[in-house]
Amino acid sequence: MTTPRTVLVTGGNRGIGYAIAEEFIAQGHRVAVTARSGEGPEGALTVRADVTDSASVDAAFGEVEEKLGPVEVVVANAGITKDTLLMRMTDEAFDSVVETNLGGAFRVVKRANKGMLKARFGRIVLISSVVGLFGGAGQVNYASSKAALVGMARSITRELGARGITANVVAPGFIETDMTAELPEAQQAEYKKSIPAGRFAAPSEVAKAVAWLASDDAGYISGAVIPVDGGLGMGH
Ligand code: NDP
Repeated sequence: MTTPRTVLVTGGNRGIGYAIAEEFIAQGHRVAVTARSGEGPEGALTVRADVTDSASVDAAFGEVEEKLGPVEVVVANAGITKDTLLMRMTDEAFDSVVETNLGGAFRVVKRANKGMLKARFGRIVLISSVVGLFGGAGQVNYASSKAALVGMARSITRELGARGITANVVAPGFIETDMTAELPEAQQAEYKKSIPAGRFAAPSEVAKAVAWLASDDAGYISGAVIPVDGGLGMGH
């Protein structure tokens, strides 16, 4: 049993974020999710936020603090892809992916930092991707944004490690969500051949790793990159 915490997960209305929220609820935490549309799982407080907008992130935190108390665990999960080959990638496709995946994480951790410093406790988990360190053809924008999260977590660790705050990265491989459902069947089969586990994972398998990083047991783990990828990214 771990100490019950106030947890905020961005992008918790579907996919991996939804599963992360479900896992924290099952473990007895007070859980809020941000969503631009839809709702988080039963038992979670849903607040509206667009992570590309600081004022919107600030308002969401304010609402969570008022209803559930200061945020002790934050999971920066909201993310998008706009895959295309480098020669066809527009500035907009690059900027919007970086703004959401990297800028969004920045806005969220910056806002969370205030309360965490005061409490001298905090758990920050950034959802990256195997592609961040492995690379991905057609994913210059996405891979860049996800690789940068490692530098972010490690810098936070150096800056705030002595204040009881940890910052870690979870790097999922192929997970069964809307994001991967877009891939053609033949491509999915091709990917499965290169994954040592021979399969994609359920979102709950990522959620378990995230919840563990936020638990009392993981207090001395910071600046780490935890792969949940069936071995796909080994060595990276
Ligand atoms: P989904 O596409 O299923 O969900 C993405 C979530 O991010 C949604 O809740 C979406 O909200 C939210 N979101 C997107 N843009 C914004 C924004 N500007 N402001 C607020 N919320 C936003 O993705 P997954 O669940 O698959 O992915 C979750 C995370 O995991 C992402 O960071 C992704 O990069 C990462 N990941 C996923 C992998 C996979 O195989 N699925 C593999 C590796 C990493 P809305 O519904 O409103 O659009």
